Amino acid sequence: MTQTQPVADGSGPLVAGADGVPAGSGAAAAGTAAAGTAAGTGAGAGRGAGAEPGVLAGLVPGLRAVCGAENVITDPLELRTYECDGLTAHRCSPGLAVLPGTAEQVAAVVRACAAAGVPFVARGSGTGLSGGALPRTDGVLIVLSRMRRVITVDPDSRRAVVEPGVTNLAVSKAAEPYGLFYAPDPSSQVVCSVGGNVAENSGGAHCLKHGFTVHHVTGLEIVTPAGELTWIGDGTGASPGYDLLGAFIGSEGTLGIVTKIVVKLLRSPEAVTTLLAAFKTMGAGGSAVSAIIGAGILPGAIEMMDALAIEAAEAAVACRYPEGAAAVLIVELDGPAADVERETAAVRELCEQAGAYEIRAAQDAAERTAIWTGRKSAFAAVGRISPAYIVQDGVVPRTALPEVLEAIAELSAQTPGVRVANVFHAGDGNLHPLVLFDDAKPDATEAAEEVSGQILDLCLSHGGSITGEHGVGVDKSRHMPKMFGADDLDTMQLVRCAFDPAGLCNPGKVFPTPRLCGEVPRIQREPHPLVASGQLEQF
Ligand SMILES: Cc1cc2nc3c(=O)[nH]c(=O)nc-3n(C[C@H](O)[C@H](O)[C@H](O)COP(=O)(O)OP(=O)(O)OC[C@H]3O[C@@H](n4cnc5c(N)ncnc54)[C@H](O)[C@@H]3O)c2cc1C
Repeated sequence: MTQTQPVADGSGPLVAGADGVPAGSGAAAAGTAAAGTAAGTGAGAGRGAGAEPGVLAGLVPGLRAVCGAENVITDPLELRTYECDGLTAHRCSPGLAVLPGTAEQVAAVVRACAAAGVPFVARGSGTGLSGGALPRTDGVLIVLSRMRRVITVDPDSRRAVVEPGVTNLAVSKAAEPYGLFYAPDPSSQVVCSVGGNVAENSGGAHCLKHGFTVHHVTGLEIVTPAGELTWIGDGTGASPGYDLLGAFIGSEGTLGIVTKIVVKLLRSPEAVTTLLAAFKTMGAGGSAVSAIIGAGILPGAIEMMDALAIEAAEAAVACRYPEGAAAVLIVELDGPAADVERETAAVRELCEQAGAYEIRAAQDAAERTAIWTGRKSAFAAVGRISPAYIVQDGVVPRTALPEVLEAIAELSAQTPGVRVANVFHAGDGNLHPLVLFDDAKPDATEAAEEVSGQILDLCLSHGGSITGEHGVGVDKSRHMPKMFGADDLDTMQLVRCAFDPAGLCNPGKVFPTPRLCGEVPRIQREPHPLVASGQLEQF
């Protein structure tokens, strides 16, 4: 078993490889990852095309020997448990599901898949909203939910080392006795796994101030797609060389499987204020957001919900937000008590100037939880007011929020049978339009998908992005060419192929057209102008 030894001063390797797992600088460990992969499966092995019939069955005895018979699922009914993630429109039962209990078992499972040319997909808690953990009938689903140990919490280095199946909230709970917390906080934090957070570079309400998962992870133990156990990042966050950790975080399970995560912990703030401000129009709420940021105040979170999202939250959790609100803002300020007091007064004033007709401040932790419950339940809550819905995720520059929200309202008004509720990370310009429809009605699903796609087009035309935090997965791969040129996509493929030349690791996700790693990407077909002119030599 790998030993983990957090260091306090960031000067030495955080992770010591007591059992031969590489320790030391990120560059060295990263080199091992790439080399190990390159030397891995034969060029033709599978290439993500899927296994021949009977190959999966042939894997079963070996996988049972590695993980225990009870942790290898072959029963078709049981396999249906894993047929989708949070994006339920896409479903597919895995050929096999395996629940390893250790990193070494994960590595052995991946080696078996690589040797047999069988595609494999990692799954954490299955809360992903873009179909990233959608399995393959011709592949193995590797479920990390048994690996849920918080291995160490080290208050001196403010680091924790956790297994991938640990839930996001469990990290903060483990750190709490030391006056520390883990900052990324997806609304699904009670159930989603840290491994899934790494794969999706997940955010949450408090990422406005504290940043995303990528800003809070300093080392990863991974199993490469060839089945080698290695580390990228040395835990200090200061390793030289290419930032492979940055490349891996947010790669949606396509570059390898995470088996341990070194996370940063932050000191719990001295003071926290949570304000709930109600407005008569969305525009007024949006103006308040701009005014707060324009005044140089950086709250921990600024979240916004419109009337339809509030209606849903009331129906689901009776959050008792102010009556008659067309929009509510939740503004949370944290930090030293004196700063928080001053900034809270300023935010109140700015909200009033923007037209807030009621402002509440949570007086204690229970009231804070009550305010947040409405917001955090909003996705699931719309199930109370609509038989079916799509959770969209796009980004626009904050200044474009009013215009884009108005355009979304127009789209919704023009499409019979479709309504759009808005609940979003306003401070980041990260929209989560919830497209509501009745899937029992003819053509309603297509109409909702059309509106959902048009919302992404709106984001792009305003200089935004097709995803803020939920990832591309299978859901948005077709939108990638709207945002990236062919050269960009080819370059991304080169990175992917460096880790996974056989194309077996979560194939079919993120990229619009599957490309085999043996294929020469377009970027290499025509020499770069500098190469063509003889100014540069290509090795
Ligand atoms: C109600 C609700 C609210 C949400 N709120 C937010 C939010 O506020 N912010 C946000 O960012 N997201 C949010 N999400 C989306 C989702 O919770 C996150 O994407 C989360 O990180 C997924 O974690 P998971 O363990 O469920 O991963 P899964 O759904 O199991 O997998 C997600 C992806 O990660 C890969 N993966 C999983 N484990 C590993 C591993 N160990 N190694 C390599 N790859 C792996 C999978 O292959 C897949 O591509 C929300 C979802 C729901 C249902």
